[in-house]
Amino acid sequence: MTAYYTPSPETREAIQEKTWANTTLCWACSACDSQCPVFLGSSRLRPQKVLRMANLGLLDELVNLPEIWYCLACKRCTRSCPNDCEPETIVGYLIKEAIRTGLYSDETISRYHEFQRKFQRARWMTTQKCLSGEDPEDEIESNWRSWLESPIEPQETAVWLTDLSHTQAFLNEADRAATASCFNCSECTNECPVCFDRKVFDPQWVFRMVNLGLEEEILRSPSIWLCISCQTCTNVCSQLVSGHLMIRGLQELAVRGGIVDTGFPSRWSKAQRLLYPLFTKEIDAIFGF
Ligand code: SF4
Ligand code: SF4
Ligand code: SF4
Ligand code: SF4
Repeated sequence: MTAYYTPSPETREAIQEKTWANTTLCWACSACDSQCPVFLGSSRLRPQKVLRMANLGLLDELVNLPEIWYCLACKRCTRSCPNDCEPETIVGYLIKEAIRTGLYSDETISRYHEFQRKFQRARWMTTQKCLSGEDPEDEIESNWRSWLESPIEPQETAVWLTDLSHTQAFLNEADRAATASCFNCSECTNECPVCFDRKVFDPQWVFRMVNLGLEEEILRSPSIWLCISCQTCTNVCSQLVSGHLMIRGLQELAVRGGIVDTGFPSRWSKAQRLLYPLFTKEIDAIFGF
């Protein structure tokens, strides 16, 4: 049977007062969907849908949506909106409402947070497989559980800072992103939506490596591919370091310089489309959807 929803202008106003997310300005262009990494990887999360439901005042329905738990809080949807609508703010509000009203147990919420941390391990392991030239298609599902449970232990390498040589292209990227201005405040690390474990991915670590001139080491690291290019690090940096540009520049240097093979970008992109369906499935299992 088709479910019909009754719009509630009062609830829409109440949501607006709590979030200032400008739901009434949405003209359904889908720009936010096209920027959402979870939508691109799995089609299971549409920020436009969340925003338009908020515009209809469907608060109860929204708080019960599985999709709100798939959100990475990366703000790519909000940054891409031409009308200043803020889907990510709505999702954040809905998550707080679900927690405040006790919809899920503390144990469920803590398992959810733990899984988000472990998911980045699986992304790191997948990226490493892609970097080694393997197509991880057959391995992702079979290794999923063990990758989640295995901490990443980067190889310890002794590096002599007096014996470095870097390319001009590397120096140019560092200049363009102004990484030399970094004073290690950790704000980017605290706000990055994929930084849960500094051994797996940490934007500040990337910028430190760049400033130390460790070109070869950083270009070979799987970490630079975990960035989802959300610009949050750039927006929060009081020193005006363009973190997202630096990491994108490193990815391009790795491809152009042959550090990664030409087939890597397509293997890696395909791998993301295999990982995110497992990500949403795991969240469904945690919450019992
Ligand atoms: S914050 Fe990121 S993950 Fe969440 S809906 Fe927006 S784009 Fe998607
Ligand atoms: S980008 Fe903005 S206007 Fe376009 S669908 Fe998303 S919320 Fe609506
Ligand atoms: S926020 Fe800026 S200054 Fe602070 S650690 Fe990150 S890049 Fe450096
Ligand atoms: S752009 Fe910055 S904040 Fe966003 S994922 Fe990459 S490193 Fe993290």
